[in-house]
Amino acid sequence: MTRDYLKKATLTAKSDATQVHDTVKTILADIEAGGDAKAMEYAAKFDRYEGNVLLTAKEIEAAIAQVPEKLKADIRFAHDNVRRFAELQKGTTTDVEMEIAPGFIAGQKVIPIDAAGCYVPGGRYSHIASAIMTVTTAKVAGCKHITACSPPRPDVGVAPAIVYAAHICGADKILAMGGVQGVAAMTFGLFGLPKANILVGPGNQFVAEAKRILFGRVGIDMIAGPTDSLILADKDADPHIVATDLVSQAEHGYNSPVWLVTDDRTLAEKVMTLVPKLIDDLPELNRENAYAAWRDYAEVIVCKDREDMAACSDEYAPEHLTVQAADLDWWLNRLTCYGSLFLGEETTVSYGDKATGTNHVLPTSGAASYTGGLSVHKYMKIVTWQRATRDASKAVAEATARISRLEGMEGHARAADVRLAKYFPGENFD
Ligand code: NAD
Repeated sequence: MTRDYLKKATLTAKSDATQVHDTVKTILADIEAGGDAKAMEYAAKFDRYEGNVLLTAKEIEAAIAQVPEKLKADIRFAHDNVRRFAELQKGTTTDVEMEIAPGFIAGQKVIPIDAAGCYVPGGRYSHIASAIMTVTTAKVAGCKHITACSPPRPDVGVAPAIVYAAHICGADKILAMGGVQGVAAMTFGLFGLPKANILVGPGNQFVAEAKRILFGRVGIDMIAGPTDSLILADKDADPHIVATDLVSQAEHGYNSPVWLVTDDRTLAEKVMTLVPKLIDDLPELNRENAYAAWRDYAEVIVCKDREDMAACSDEYAPEHLTVQAADLDWWLNRLTCYGSLFLGEETTVSYGDKATGTNHVLPTSGAASYTGGLSVHKYMKIVTWQRATRDASKAVAEATARISRLEGMEGHARAADVRLAKYFPGENFD
């Protein structure tokens, strides 16, 4: 498509990004090492402020006392609208609208992201299930262009079963390229692909780092690094099943942590005896992975009771969390940090990893403290819209003009003034 630019920008927000990146990196490292004092030093340097930084109740009260009553009313008016709109949005990911004031309509629209780039890992294992997890959710969300990329094997290309899975799940294009180069090709729109608007899918540390660096110019689902798993087990758990489940997750890679958290020392000891035996019995590649993961990354933790076990698990915020203990409802209600939860011996992480329907692209390395895993929502943009009658716009225009002037944003205030003058000629507004 040819476009005629009557004016074209000479600079963009990205123009000085490199220098900003270096500055921010230095400041963050300084503050992490120097703590409160260093943060205050930067506040003094950049904002010329050396006062108290964490506001006391008295300081908050004193600040509030300085705000004129009329402005307080305008702020409460805006807060009320924003709160009611947020309440409307909470609990719905479909198109909705509300009459925020008579004649003033505000709404939310859910729009699928146009082009998704799905990374299907294939270095150590052929992750057929990752193709199913990433492509299917993109398709159901309504993405128009879906590319699946996966590392090729020498002389073989992408594993045929991955190609089949990506194809039946709805991939429009399949790229035989892995690692950073695969991620780059989808992001930059190489080989005739549409430029991805979002990159999803797990991968090794090279894939994860590429996604982290590219985030901003492209969306990402999350940084899904080496898989990790935690099992909560009490005295009644079957040690053989607990040990087998730990090994099943340790085989992911040399750096895939597995953790056992229990309140029963005898169970812990039995499991620790069983795990090496089960690892020895695996095929060679799996054995090497599981052996290294168990030796270097695994932990076995004995807690004093189930409350302590739950607190410990929430601190680790594991990607996969299994409970093999009594009173499953108690655990379901109590636990708050995990990517996916497997309740009871009758289910296991392997089921979710491959076939039960819950997504296996999940937050790793503690990221479950702030996010869940891949879902249809990650491919959907929740955007907002508004429109009003002239009469309905009057109250909001007055509040907007006053708040903007107090903020020092005269241009914003005039956008309200010009409408008040046009729609309500002859009236006075202060
Ligand atoms: P991968 O496809 O992620 O990585 C293979 C690619 O890495 C190769 O194509 C190559 O280009 C690149 N690479 C290898 N060595 C390199 C180097 N030295 N420099 C630059 N690039 C290099 O496959 P993988 O290695 O098997 O890793 C898969 C990862 O995905 C594992 O860590 C696994 O635990 C994880 N995983 C996570 C989830 C989840 O939901 N969190 C699910 C499945 C798999």
